[in-house]
Amino acid sequence: RGMGTEYLEITDLTVTFDGFTAVDRVNLTLLQGDLRFLIGPNGAGKTTLVDAVTGLVPATGSVRKSGTELIGKKAQQIARLGVGRTFQTATVFERLSVLQNLDIAAGAHRSPLKLLRRRRTVEPPVAQALETVGLAELAHRQAGTLAHGQKQWLEIGMLLVQNADVLLLDEPVAGMSHDERATTGELLRRIGADRTVVVVEHDMDFMRDFATSVTVLHGGKVLAEGTVAQVQADPRVQEVYLGT
Ligand code: ADP
Repeated sequence: RGMGTEYLEITDLTVTFDGFTAVDRVNLTLLQGDLRFLIGPNGAGKTTLVDAVTGLVPATGSVRKSGTELIGKKAQQIARLGVGRTFQTATVFERLSVLQNLDIAAGAHRSPLKLLRRRRTVEPPVAQALETVGLAELAHRQAGTLAHGQKQWLEIGMLLVQNADVLLLDEPVAGMSHDERATTGELLRRIGADRTVVVVEHDMDFMRDFATSVTVLHGGKVLAEGTVAQVQADPRVQEVYLGT
């Protein structure tokens, strides 16, 4: 796995709802080390694209991960192939502890007895994820009592213990404080170094600080792609955002 290894190759991806084309022949290549921001106005097709890649909506075209075709596979299979996602509203098990959430994500739910008592040993991948997302001190806290930002980090930790190397995050910093945003950005930078992270985001300041590349969607199509500076200087992007 060298830097620049191709992690996800999306070709002619198309999603149609009752004759309405929400994602229109999108081509996208994501490399290892990419911290790719996916931006565009409301209704541009960002969430639908993520849904299509993760098997939540039917799509045509091709999404290849290391040569394996994902289109036509079920969401569970795609997750097992290392493509994980988060949602705008964190989907953690609120009544369980941080550690139990990670255990479940890691597959410990196959032996439910383990979850009934506080475990003395923590599996190395779980311990690693706790450290990475900064929740080691809160391992035994009930997930429902975590702050909004901490829940997002837990969700990212759950993807890490599933060995996701392609992570698609839907507005991870929405509703976060300034400090939480910075912490999240640093986290994404760390985990993105040897993975691929796609961030659907409206927060342009966050994008400017952390994106390594940007894809702008508009009307289901790729309108522009490049570095933050390239995309910001693109008159078509300015037109879409400012109506000038
Ligand atoms: P974004 O995430 O960029 O705001 P979406 O992917 O949510 O955009 O939506 C793209 C377009 O597809 C919108 O016009 C939306 O109304 C439409 N759309 C999304 N999901 C569905 C659905 N399940 N059925 C019909 N239309 C949908």
